Amino acid sequence: MSAADTPDFFHQGELVGVLTTQPLDRVLDYKAPEGGLWLGAFVEVPLGPRKVLGVVWGPGVGDYDHSKIRSVIRVLDAAPMREEMRLFLEKAADYTLTAMPAMLRLATRAPGLGDAPSMRLVYRLGAGVPDRMTPARTKVLAVLEEYGGLSFTLKELAEMAGVGTSVVKGLVSSGAVREEKSPRDTPYPPPDPDYGGKALTEDQRKGAIVLREAVRSGAYGTTLLKGVTGSGKTEVYLEAVAECLRSGRQALVLLPEIALTGEFIDRCEARFGVRPAEWHSGVTLTERRRCWKMVGQGEAQFVVGARSALFLPYRNLGLIVVDEEHDTSYKQEDGVLYNARDMTVLRASLNAAQVILASATPSLESWANVEAGKYAKLTLASRFGPAVMPTMRAIDMRAEEMPGSSWISPTLRRGVLARIEKGEQSLLFLNRRGYAPVTLCRACGEQIGCDQCDARMVEHRFLKRLMCHQCGETRPMPQVCPSCEVADKLAPVGPGVERLAEEAQVAFPDAEIAVLSSDHYGSARALKEHIAQIAGGSADIVIGTQLVAKGHNFPKLTLVGVIDADLGLQGSDLRAAERTFQLMRQVAGRAGRAEIPGEALLQTFQPEHPVIGAILNGDEEAFWAAEAAERKEAGVPPYGRMAGIVLSSPDVSQVFDLGAEMARHDGPLRKIGAQVFGPAPAPIARVRGRHRVRLLVKAEKGVPLQAALAEWVGQFRLKGEMRMAVDIDPQSFL
Ligand code: ADP
Ligand code: ZN
Repeated sequence: MSAADTPDFFHQGELVGVLTTQPLDRVLDYKAPEGGLWLGAFVEVPLGPRKVLGVVWGPGVGDYDHSKIRSVIRVLDAAPMREEMRLFLEKAADYTLTAMPAMLRLATRAPGLGDAPSMRLVYRLGAGVPDRMTPARTKVLAVLEEYGGLSFTLKELAEMAGVGTSVVKGLVSSGAVREEKSPRDTPYPPPDPDYGGKALTEDQRKGAIVLREAVRSGAYGTTLLKGVTGSGKTEVYLEAVAECLRSGRQALVLLPEIALTGEFIDRCEARFGVRPAEWHSGVTLTERRRCWKMVGQGEAQFVVGARSALFLPYRNLGLIVVDEEHDTSYKQEDGVLYNARDMTVLRASLNAAQVILASATPSLESWANVEAGKYAKLTLASRFGPAVMPTMRAIDMRAEEMPGSSWISPTLRRGVLARIEKGEQSLLFLNRRGYAPVTLCRACGEQIGCDQCDARMVEHRFLKRLMCHQCGETRPMPQVCPSCEVADKLAPVGPGVERLAEEAQVAFPDAEIAVLSSDHYGSARALKEHIAQIAGGSADIVIGTQLVAKGHNFPKLTLVGVIDADLGLQGSDLRAAERTFQLMRQVAGRAGRAEIPGEALLQTFQPEHPVIGAILNGDEEAFWAAEAAERKEAGVPPYGRMAGIVLSSPDVSQVFDLGAEMARHDGPLRKIGAQVFGPAPAPIARVRGRHRVRLLVKAEKGVPLQAALAEWVGQFRLKGEMRMAVDIDPQSFL
């Protein structure tokens, strides 16, 4: 589709091609309604007996009996989808081998897009005092306080507080909650780029100048902003955001984890005087709709969000920041399998926008793109202020004297005790949720597994349940072995954070211990509160999973003890070394963010392992160079292309048969010199009762892999309950 020969307005009765959100493999023809419509218009069209959402994608094809073609029902009150957005969805669909309707669903994930602008009743915190307090009333007020000045609809507020709507109404009569009329979907107040900038250090200032210039260029470009945790990357990229806002264009910052947004939003407010628009699963549906609409009208200039914020209908997007760009959560692992970091670059290139990829430990992909001259690179060499990177040492576990079922070595124990004496905090890091990864029956040897998955059930003592980390299934902790029915023989094997906390409580009886693991919090709010308390110094010892590795600031933390530095090195994942390196450096970066220098101690059984060595001496360039050389040699990403195909079905022979047939008929792949490996059982061979078989395709860089894949998989038909997922550039090999 070229812009020049496509009309951009269609008069009443003219044929238009409409892409709908329904799973059909083509656009459908409709007649333009009275008043006509614009190319890109969001419309409601009849499909069989239903009304469905769609976008005018171009002129109609006209291969249908004209008299049978129905008319568009109505044009929705939303800015038409812009050409670059349509192009983005098409290219993203081609890249990820996703059907267009699924892409459109990603781009329209806001409720009530078709509703007319109108007034509605909203509820916010009032000045009055309730005549009496009840637990239900307390909950409502707590929600309103938590969300500051925000207002809610009656239903939303009641739902968030977990109370009936009458409780809210009761609070209105006393004035404790205010009920007011408000227009739907109001613009976001404009941020002020000059509101609260900090005085930058020399290093930071130089970086900010380069980024500002890039933003001013009005052209596409990507910069990797690399700097150790606490070096001020956020301060620097907020200067680029400021420049983008000055130029009248929109800016987007992507964060990997919604638990981090609260702290970040506060910082944005301090910098720009107002809160940015937020887009992630933690915001209310009303706010989502407002955000979607205002972004389209250019009345939300600054957006902070999760990866799906990339699919909002920006009117004039000038800058996208991907914070913690190496983070694996940027890869969506179900539904449309896309990597938000790669899609960001695509989107920006279609919008003449700039990209900033920020990280202390960049992905090898980005590192290689810098080497190849595709990305620019900026480095912030030192931490802000007096803070320095912690010293890092290995604890050789082979030389430590300790009993079998304990995980804190005497050396680490001494380190923690020394911190407690000085009133400083220690972090014990173990990337395993729950109490114990395995529950073993000492009578029959059975390891309790999930009925639905090929995975062991993990004991969560805090919840008093067993849980499958694959499908989420839980059941009460049994008293007798489910296999041999002998009582009192079930024993935990191996450590999780909860068990580690138990050991720590015995080893440090007077210490205050806090566990930071996602299982322990009912809500993002509770987690946030707890993190703030810990940062304030409420705990002597923090025990955490990778939740603690990301972003949070603990000023009193001076010691990080990694319980099992070898954990990530096991397994066959091609990124195992990279991930371990990143995670260990990030976790170590939690120590010594304020005046007192920090120390990181890594418990390992293989201190001579090259990855452990690289983590300890911090010679990143050497690590990346070695890792790059290995991947180049093996022809794997980022120096080769890969695609994973997972076939699944309740019937195990069905998936193996199809897998074998696919491997045999690999003509389209062979034409481009690609190879197929498998079928083999996926590492987790059964999930939710479905058997899973994997094929892996490897190709050289630069070949038309997607086209060949499409031709290849197009040869086969999926029968019955069988499903196929094609994952381009897979990140996870489970
Ligand atoms: P990073 O994003 O690299 O982890 P941050 O931007 O979060 O680093 O900076 C770390 C801490 O140092 C933050 O609390 C930040 O406010 C502070 N900081 C960084 N640079 C400056 C500066 N130039 N002036 C004042 N405070 C700064
Ligand atoms: Zn399961």
